[in-house]
Amino acid sequence: EKTIGIIGGGQLGRMLAMAAARLNFRTLILEPQVDCPAAHVASEQIVAAYDDPAALAELARRCDVVTYEFENVPVHAAEKLAADVDVYPPPKALEMAQDRLTEKRFINGCGIPTARFHAIDSQADLEAALADFGGQGVLKTRRLGYDGKGQRVYRSTADSPEGGYAALGGVPLILESFVSFDREISIIAARGFDGAVACYDPAENVHRDGILHTSTLPAGISEQTAVAAREAADRILTALGYVGVIGIEFFALSDGSLIANEMAPRVHNSGHWTEAACVISQFEQHIRAVAGLPLGNPQRHSACVMTNLIGDDILALPEWLSLDDTLVHLYGKSEARPGRKMGHVTQLLR
Ligand code: ATP
Ligand code: MG
Ligand code: MG
Repeated sequence: EKTIGIIGGGQLGRMLAMAAARLNFRTLILEPQVDCPAAHVASEQIVAAYDDPAALAELARRCDVVTYEFENVPVHAAEKLAADVDVYPPPKALEMAQDRLTEKRFINGCGIPTARFHAIDSQADLEAALADFGGQGVLKTRRLGYDGKGQRVYRSTADSPEGGYAALGGVPLILESFVSFDREISIIAARGFDGAVACYDPAENVHRDGILHTSTLPAGISEQTAVAAREAADRILTALGYVGVIGIEFFALSDGSLIANEMAPRVHNSGHWTEAACVISQFEQHIRAVAGLPLGNPQRHSACVMTNLIGDDILALPEWLSLDDTLVHLYGKSEARPGRKMGHVTQLLR
């Protein structure tokens, strides 16, 4: 029996562990929080920090392969681990995705457009960059942002840049040009040991308070735009020598062209619909890829909409449970704090 190590014990780790169990793999998670979502699903847990040297040595010793469920695994820890055990996706993917500046340069280097951007290391940088963008832009922390945290939008020259640098914590920032998109889409793609790439259909995503609210399939985009998303995924995966599942977010403009926003070297919230509308979910696909098994067919058999249950949304659980063709997936979190992802539901539309 083979063991797959998973760094991180949140809901993504939990769903990876479920998929792994179905293919007869044991899972060993590394997660400092004892009562985490993955705890009761994984075979075993090492309770330690993600970069704890002894814990990483134990992972390397006990696992046949190690993967991760979040993109902020310290790169130095992943690289050290990779000297002793196979780590997929490759640590280079972490390095490219952890810093929005590095990420945009990498994506542009693959021949894929992003929003224009300036690195911001001071208030003077911010003022010069905003002037370059006509007073509009999205200021973001380069590292550790998620669910729209660590961001500030400048809509016009009336939004004073005063104090903007300090307001986001005085850490390295990036100012992106403001993209007037028609819609947001994402693509979930996988690359196997043999270099084969499998893309799921692009999802159309709607955010609420900066957090993903719904992913709808099919997205309201042309076949040409869908092909462009697949091609972009193919280039990124190939450039990274990638193994595993990746999620890539795009802005679709009214002319059908795509601008890449960001990528996550892991299974992705906007791919949760795959567990209900495809035979092989993104979670099984990731396990297959990192375990060196053949990728599954990513074909979608139904139209669907995935809705995140965030905070008090969980109170509507009885209504969701009473709907036909609706898969409910809960994460085992006891306390419904505002903004906390408690579960998701995927309703097949047919
Ligand atoms: P996630 O939770 O997806 O990781 P995040 O915190 O990393 O999100 P982004 O995806 O970069 O942040 O931005 C969050 C949302 O803000 C985007 O989905 C989009 O709606 C909006 N947004 C971000 N950048 C821009 C931009 N340059 N122009 C217009 N809107 C933007
Ligand atoms: Mg992000
Ligand atoms: Mg995002």
